[in-house]
Amino acid sequence: MVDRIIYLDHAATTYVKPEVFDAMKPYFSEHFGNASSIYSIGRESKKAVEEAREKVARAIGAQPREIYFTGSGSEADNWALKGVAAAYKQKGKHIITSKIEHPAVLNTCKYLEKEGFEVTYLPVDGDGLVSLEDVRNAIKENTILISIMFANNEIGTIQPINEIGAIAREKGVLFHTDAVQAVGNVAIDVEELNVDLLSLSGHKFYGPKGVGALYVRKGVKISSLIHGGQQERGKRASTENIPSIVGLGRAIELATENMEEYNKRITELREKTIEGLMAKVPYIKLNGHRTKRLPGNVNISFQFIEGESLLLMLDMKGVCGSSGSACSSGSLDPSHVLLAIGLTHEIAHGSLRLSFGDDNTLEDVEYLLKEIPNIVSRLRDMSPLYEAVKNKQKQ
Ligand SMILES: *Cc1c(COP(=O)(O)O)cnc(C)c1O
Repeated sequence: MVDRIIYLDHAATTYVKPEVFDAMKPYFSEHFGNASSIYSIGRESKKAVEEAREKVARAIGAQPREIYFTGSGSEADNWALKGVAAAYKQKGKHIITSKIEHPAVLNTCKYLEKEGFEVTYLPVDGDGLVSLEDVRNAIKENTILISIMFANNEIGTIQPINEIGAIAREKGVLFHTDAVQAVGNVAIDVEELNVDLLSLSGHKFYGPKGVGALYVRKGVKISSLIHGGQQERGKRASTENIPSIVGLGRAIELATENMEEYNKRITELREKTIEGLMAKVPYIKLNGHRTKRLPGNVNISFQFIEGESLLLMLDMKGVCGSSGSACSSGSLDPSHVLLAIGLTHEIAHGSLRLSFGDDNTLEDVEYLLKEIPNIVSRLRDMSPLYEAVKNKQKQ
């Protein structure tokens, strides 16, 4: 048995920070009032929601009235796409996205195609970047929306959001970005970036699960997501999940305050891991852009082995990693992201994602650099393909 768990899957989810949990606690039993009620405990809840809204707005350079709370990042993505599609369908029915989006965007696009919309899925280069030229060329008379993710959840590549925003603005097309992986890791200002809609999710930056937000620029039309009461200015009815909204607000506030220091620390862990593995293990490839990537993201393909076997052996050593994304594990298809950057099915299957976070240390990196090379050579010793390569080298 291992005596300690090294959690390296922060891109899948994070723990709730104690400060965040403390902020949430009073809103379960003590301050349980309905934010729509007129008496004082209702008003307290209302105030807590509005304070959280201000915190989210401040973190991304928005106005509080441009922030709508949702039940998750997936919900925010769904709403952005379906909501804009419904509100602008008279203007046009064409949407542009990329091939490496999160399923919350890709499958919503698939749904919209069935509803009569046309979707262009832009390719990416070997580093996972979309081409600005492609974005520009894809825009047509009837294009209403561009949806390109800020940073990829599997390979960590950060897109040229600023430039895409400028093109969208120039052409009069709305621009949505799924920033679920970016918020808390990268400084974001929706004004500077020309972003019109942006999705975020609490549990990716040490907040609770099941709460997110959608930023919608003032003046942008979006259809209601849930019809009912007047919550979220009538756009998303239902009694507010106050503890979670408060937690989201506190988490985004902490993330923004500590971003520079956090970023620096996590980047060092990433770099030491990438450099160490590259030096110690032959036949491997780093996936994603070498520098334009999330501070904590490492994604590496190991030739001649199965990612799943690698994960299981790492688990026995107390290391929690991922073979791509939590959303696609359980399916045997290789990651759509790894295929889009040009990997073969075989190489894509031998991939490992490690995502660093607040609780990781240089000691963890040392441990990884000791264990991974051993595990990889043990697995390769069982591979007939590797055997053949070794024999060839000997000749
Ligand atoms: C996690 C994630 C989502 C989904 O967020 P949930 O809150 O888990 O629904 C969407 N997009 C990206 C890029 C993600 O990493």
